[in-house]
Amino acid sequence: MSEKLTDLFGIDVFNDATMVERLPKKTYAALKKTIENGEDLDPSVAEVVANAMKDWAIERGATHYTHWFQPMTGITAEKHDSFISPTHDGKVIMEFSGKELIKGEPDASSFPSGGLRATFEARGYTAWDCTSPAFLREDASGVTLCIPTAFCSYTGEALDMKTPLLRSMEAISKQAVRVLKLFGHSEVKRVSTSVGPEQEYFLVDKAKYLKRDDLIFTGRTLFGAMPPKGQELEDHYFGILKERISSYMKELNVELWKMGVTAKTQHNEVAPAQHELAPIYATANIATDHNQLVMECMKKIANRHGLTCLLHEKPFAGVNGSGKHNNWSMVTNTGKNLLDPGKTPHENVQFLLFLAAVLKAVDLHADLLRVSAANPGNDHRLGANEAPPAIISVFLGTQLDDVLKQLIETGEAKSSKEGGKLNIGVQTIPALNKDATDRNRTSPFAFTGNKFEFRMVASSMSIGTANTILNTIVADVLSDIADELEKAVNFDLALHDLIKKIVTEHYRIVFNGNGYSDEWVVEAERRGLPNIKSMVEAIPAMVTDKAVDLFEKHHVFSPIELHSRAEILYEAYSKAINIEARTMISMVSVKYIPAVIQYTKKLADSINAIKAAVVDADVSVQTDLLKETSALLAKAQIALKKLQAATDAASAKEEGAEMAASFRNEVFPAMVELRTPIDALELIVEKELWPVPTYGDLLFEV
Ligand code: ADP
Ligand code: MG
Repeated sequence: MSEKLTDLFGIDVFNDATMVERLPKKTYAALKKTIENGEDLDPSVAEVVANAMKDWAIERGATHYTHWFQPMTGITAEKHDSFISPTHDGKVIMEFSGKELIKGEPDASSFPSGGLRATFEARGYTAWDCTSPAFLREDASGVTLCIPTAFCSYTGEALDMKTPLLRSMEAISKQAVRVLKLFGHSEVKRVSTSVGPEQEYFLVDKAKYLKRDDLIFTGRTLFGAMPPKGQELEDHYFGILKERISSYMKELNVELWKMGVTAKTQHNEVAPAQHELAPIYATANIATDHNQLVMECMKKIANRHGLTCLLHEKPFAGVNGSGKHNNWSMVTNTGKNLLDPGKTPHENVQFLLFLAAVLKAVDLHADLLRVSAANPGNDHRLGANEAPPAIISVFLGTQLDDVLKQLIETGEAKSSKEGGKLNIGVQTIPALNKDATDRNRTSPFAFTGNKFEFRMVASSMSIGTANTILNTIVADVLSDIADELEKAVNFDLALHDLIKKIVTEHYRIVFNGNGYSDEWVVEAERRGLPNIKSMVEAIPAMVTDKAVDLFEKHHVFSPIELHSRAEILYEAYSKAINIEARTMISMVSVKYIPAVIQYTKKLADSINAIKAAVVDADVSVQTDLLKETSALLAKAQIALKKLQAATDAASAKEEGAEMAASFRNEVFPAMVELRTPIDALELIVEKELWPVPTYGDLLFEV
């Protein structure tokens, strides 16, 4: 890296520093007002900004621009236009107008809309989101100016992840400001949510990847026996990075830094071939955009290193899968983190109120949080003793739990437990200050010092929905709190009673024990907490009366938008399982069965040849193997037919909930049934004849 990192960082971003440098003072001030206070943007301002942006981009080699948006596919979309504009003398000049900056009109008919837009009404609009800075993307295709945009239909419904997120950020800001005003903080004009998503991923050798149709078509292995060594030695977590991997990470970091993504932490994860990257947190909207860039770059750069990046939640059965830890907090425009307890949380009533609000929100809307983490891949992960269970609960830790218990039991919290010193018994190592609370890896929603960590989110998903839901449910509770406290005669008294009431009523959501244990499943049921095991069972939460009222009240989703999103989820599920099932059918038919037949023929030939040579020779080994292999082969054939029939039947069902349920209840078990004999065969059949790389090849030979 010849350039210094500090010079490199954000070099491809049209950020604040660049704007100060390149925009006339008045234009900059006007744009800043829009960004910070949400004021309307004058078209003449957009014109000047567009021109400055274009000049800057062209100086850095850009030829094209694109409106960069996040449709409901969960990934990003773009359509590139070059800056050229013809002149009368047959030449071109480079142009980019304010109009082009503000609005785009991609043909929207091929993006999921959940019935919002019939295909003949194809119009969709992208609208500039000036709160997320434009950036340049450099790769083999050249340099492109990317403009973050929201994506909506002709009638104004959101067709993307960004629009509802921005709406939810406004909602929580409005309600939090109301509450803070009651505490005398009238200086606070805005409250935003900060998000730091930790991203887990796998890297496998690309040449091996290309030999597996399941990885290519579905992102996960649909077959594969466990290798002799898995993750039981715990030698991969935080282990030394192999050079091939660290050189990948180095390039990834540089690419991300240039685009202003604060890539900070990197390490090996629990499973072999698994890694993690965490950026420094940013405002929810920017963090969501950046997480998309992280995922995009992870895949792109892997290719340059002969690797393939797998973002699937469960690429390998039997080894840990990948998730995304969504660290979330609320911060005022004056820079105060509302979830910071300080040293003595029991005295910090404002903190306790916001903490109580989050507890209540999570308890009331656990079903919505669950659906925000639902995708076909996460069905393999949640509740499988490696990731949080499918039951939502909150971990508070010893210190806060103690404060809340004091409140509930005596009506008053008088003390906060301290962490104390940690003495490890070596004179030369200084005593460390201990945190007041230990970690709990098994909790889906853990308080970690000054933020909540929502750990259920799926690794391949946008974090947009999770944060939209988090913001909205907390906004709703804050709005009730503000309603009540605004009319209180004695604020301090009312506040005290309210905190106690909320905490007492919603303490059932707090669980500090082992979330992976069977006892917790029983205990959670006793407490009446929902245990929603699959995506298909999670989707209805989007359209309950409770959800419709909630999202409509805070202008985050209209009822139509909610219904369309539920449809999109059902459709996405059915499509994903259909592809998985058909990939299995194809792999078994044209790869595994022919390979096994070859092996059985080899055994039969061997038996015949030996018998021909020595009539009474012992061929029991070959005969046993042949019998065993043939029996498994027959099992596979029966399971194959069954899966075929189940898939055909599911595909014939009415689209939506019914079809998704059929894929979940009929096709999914049939897939498991087909996998079993094939995985057993993998452990018997001669390795040279096995048609695809094994788990051992994929996980340990990177
Ligand atoms: P761990 O693995 O211990 O959970 P990491 O350092 O891997 O911790 O990730 C923690 C993430 O939380 C980082 O992205 C970090 O920037 C983010 N984070 C830290 N403080 C806050 C905060 N106040 N609000 C939101 N996110 C935060
Ligand atoms: Mg974490």
